[in-house]
Order: sequence, then C-alpha cells, then structure tokens
Amino acid sequence: MLANQLARRGVHALIIDRHTGPSVQTRALGVQARTLEIYAHLGIVERALDLGKRATGANIWVQGRRAARIPLGDIGRDLSPYPFLLILGQDDNERLLGDALRIRGAAVQWNTELVGLAQEANQVRATLMQPDGTTSEVRAAWVAGCDGAHSAVRELSGIAFEGAPYEHVFFVADAQVTGSMVPDELNVYLWREGFHLFFPMRGTDHWRIVGILPPDLRGREDLTFEDVIPSVRKEAGTQLSFEACSWYSTYRIHHRRAVHFRNGRAFLLGDAAHIHSPVGAQGMNTGLQDAYNLAWKLALVVSGRAGAALLDSYEDERVPVAQRLLSTTDRAFSLVVSDSIVARLFRTRVLAKIMALAMRIESVQKLAFRTISQIGIRYRSSRLSETLAGLPESAPRAGDRFPWLRLKLVANGATEDLFDKLDDTRFNLIVIGQVAPSGGIPELGELLRIHEVPSEPANDRELMRAKIPRVSFYLLRPDGHVGLAGVQLDAAAVSRYVSERLRFG
Ligand SMILES: Cc1cc2nc3c(=O)[nH]c(=O)nc-3n(C[C@H](O)[C@H](O)[C@H](O)COP(=O)(O)OP(=O)(O)OC[C@H]3O[C@@H](n4cnc5c(N)ncnc54)[C@H](O)[C@@H]3O)c2cc1C
Repeated sequence: MLANQLARRGVHALIIDRHTGPSVQTRALGVQARTLEIYAHLGIVERALDLGKRATGANIWVQGRRAARIPLGDIGRDLSPYPFLLILGQDDNERLLGDALRIRGAAVQWNTELVGLAQEANQVRATLMQPDGTTSEVRAAWVAGCDGAHSAVRELSGIAFEGAPYEHVFFVADAQVTGSMVPDELNVYLWREGFHLFFPMRGTDHWRIVGILPPDLRGREDLTFEDVIPSVRKEAGTQLSFEACSWYSTYRIHHRRAVHFRNGRAFLLGDAAHIHSPVGAQGMNTGLQDAYNLAWKLALVVSGRAGAALLDSYEDERVPVAQRLLSTTDRAFSLVVSDSIVARLFRTRVLAKIMALAMRIESVQKLAFRTISQIGIRYRSSRLSETLAGLPESAPRAGDRFPWLRLKLVANGATEDLFDKLDDTRFNLIVIGQVAPSGGIPELGELLRIHEVPSEPANDRELMRAKIPRVSFYLLRPDGHVGLAGVQLDAAAVSRYVSERLRFG
C-alpha cells in the first residue's frame, strides 16, 4: 500500500521482503469499508468486490440461541459506498496490491532481508542480505518498517514494543461446514467457555472458524482440526456437520504497541507498530491505513513541497488510533475469553440482552458501523486539524474523514458521488453555497482541486443529512480527512493554514 501510494505521487521506493514470494496463507479475512474507499482511489476496488464476499450483518448467538444481529449493510447505506464487511483473504489483497504496483512499474524484491540500519543526517544506510549470506548496502532518504510483528526496522531503531502475550491459544480453520450459521453473514457464538467466530468465505458452506483452544487441549503441539472439532460441536451445536478442512493453524497472540512510530528517518507501520487480538477484523486494515496516512506526507516532503516537520503528524495521528484499537480489542477479547464466573454470566446472560436492545437504536447501530468499518477514525487533536470559529459543534470538523455525499456539482445537473470526484493525490477544497476563489490557493497551486457545491434543494437535503451548514467550506487533505474547516471561505485563511500547519514553502 505504501509503495503504491508513493508511486502514484511520483516517489520511487525499493521494496524488499525476506520471503521467497507472496504469502499463500489467508490470515486476515475482513476488508473494512474505509479500506475499500482507499482501494477505489487506487483502482482495485472492483476486482476486490468481484473476488470477495459481502457480509451484510453479524449475528450474535448465545448458548446456541440467536440473541442479536448487527446490521452492517442497511445501517451503513448512507455512510459509505461500501456498507458491508468484504470477506477477502489477505493473500488476495496482497495480490491485488502487487498487481497495482506492477502496473506502476514497481515490484517487491523477494529473498532480501534487512539486517543492518544506520541513520545519518540526510540518509539511511541499510544492509541487505541475500539467501546465500552475501550482503550489500543501499542508501535511501527514508525507511519504512512494514516488516511485521518481529520488525527488524523497529529493533534496529531501538524502539520498544510494549505489551504482553495473551495466555490463550487461538485456532483458525477454513472448513466446509453446515449448521445454524446465517449464510453470508458473520456468526459470533458466545459460550460460557469462550467463543467461536464463523466468517463466510467464497463458495458454498465454506467458513473460516476462529476460536480459542479449550483448556484441556492447551499446551499440546501436535493438535489437528479433528482434535478441536468435538469442542466446536459441543459449543456451536451438535447439528454442525464438517465436510472438509483446507487450512488449520494455531497461534498465540500478543497485544503490543511500539512506543514510537518514528525514529528520525525510520517509520513503523502495520504489525511492526501494533498487534492485537483479531477480534473485530481490524489488524490488516489498520496497517493499510497507516500507509495511507504516511504516504501523502512523505511524498510532499520528498518532493520538497513540505518541510520534514509534517512527518511528525504521522505518529501524532496514528499512535492514538493504535492505542484505542489495543484497548477496545483487549476489552472485547477479555470479555469473550475470561474464565471467571462473573464474565461467563455476563457473556451469556447480560451481554446478549444489552446488544439486542442497543441494536434496536439507530444511533447505536450507526456508531457500531462507523467504529467497525473504520470510517469513524478521526484526528481532531492533530496539529494538522484546524476548525475555524462559527462552525456548529454537530458539523464534521477538522480531523474527521469527510462524509460520503451525493451532490449536484453543477446546478440542475446529475447527482454525482463526491468520493469519485475527489483526487486523493491532491488537496480538495469543497466550497459550499458560496463562490470559490478564482485564483485558487497560490501556496497549493496544482496540488489543489476545487469542488463547488451550488445551493439547491437536493444538495441542501444531502448536506443537512450530514449536518453540514449550507454555507461552509472544507479543505480536505489527500487522505480525505478534513484539514481546515469553516463557514465563510477566506482564501487568506487557507493560505495561512498551508504555510503554518503543513509547513509548505
Ligand atoms: C490467523 C490470523 C488471522 C487474522 N485475521 C485478521 C482479520 O480478520 N482482519 C485483520 O484486519 N487482520 C487479521 N490478522 C492480522 C493481519 O494478518 C496482520 O495485521 C497483517 O498481516 C499485518 O500486515 P503487515 O504487512 O504489517 O505485516 P506482515 O503481514 O507480518 O508482513 C511483514 C512482511 O515483512 C517481511 N519481513 C519481516 N522481517 C523482514 C526483514 N528483516 N527483512 C525483509 N523483510 C522482512 C516478512 O517476510 C513479511 O512478508 C490476522 C492474523 C492472523 C495470523
């Protein structure tokens, strides 16, 4: 993702990986709406949608009875062009991103391991090792550690990875199975003893099952899926019928976060920066969005448009996202695995009732969709976020992902999807109910696209839905988050924002 985004902005990156080729393990399976919005700009969303399966809801089962349903589809309908969780394996995602990279003339250099890293004032020197043990040195302006939980970049940069392992061991199986699961939806089974997740996969009766090993099987190294089946059947129902299992694995998970996401010319992204329980299908998505946050900033700095201080905002913005993710997944995970009597009772008696009641409230449903889909991630306290006086509290504010709107951008013209119109390699100035500055914003020049939203009833209704005042303006950063927001557009205020906050010039 990072190399793709840099290539789109004219920045060349050398991508190395110590493996011999792309991973063939599915691993992450859930692609969230926010990631799909980014894929749309990258030109790979159609292929992702063709290959994947849309999960439009999550069903919560308690002790064998369906207790609640979280509707992912309907409730997100006005919030994102992709109001669902796309079930598409990480291997497929990596392939799509690799194909997109090749179209841009770049490719991963496999069989190449980073073994040394030295920082100098204006460059980094990286020592790379080939499988035969020979080493070579490359010099680069910056290094991005997208190298997973055991990140060499993190270790060679001396950045601590604070946290701990969970005591539980997960199992994961891709199996053909029939049972009470609602087809094409997520099925979460909560039991006194723990939980099972059933993710729908491509094909008929094909499910990814995730759970924790029952206590009597913990500590055994030689476990097969057959050993686990009795406990799954005992908990998820005797009517479960297993036909075949194409992949089975067990793994121990940790919850950890790097204390810094940057050390001088080195950055950490993805699992190198944060790891947590897979409850919530957030891990892969968060890593992809780390890259989307960093890429436009790095491209501006590399091309000399912005000062290096802009890069400090990467850590400022992404550390709180990782921190929140760790604490929420930790709380959710502890609740679904705790062996204590109170937790068991809460899981099976109270939790389901609360969820069933809460999910009848539309605002709670919307909050659930925003949170799970990651469209609700925002950077309101970032140094890059400035909301001018006069904008109502309820309106989208600086730091928010600008909402998805369908608007008439030409008076009496057709309704258009604003997200299709945004150019994510540039800043976008959305000028609502007023005239845009004729000379653009000189500090941004060609880096700016202006979209005027004329006042007319259909637009007013759409703006009201998103709580956007009929006269307002929003300067969006290339990643679609609001940088500057206000009511009356003042070109001088935008110029000042660009030079002071982005450190342009
Ligand atoms: C079973 C399982 C299920 C999961 N389910 C989900 C899910 O449903 N949803 C979700 O969002 N996430 C899920 N995750 C998490 C997700 O897989 C990770 O968050 C994701 O793989 C992180 O991507 P990454 O690129 O940061 O790191 P990785 O995928 O670990 O990639 C790191 C790469 O760096 C390379 N590398 C490492 N060290 C070096 C070095 N010194 N030199 C050169 N190359 C190096 C490695 O070879 C590797 O290719 C799951 C994980 C597992 C294990």
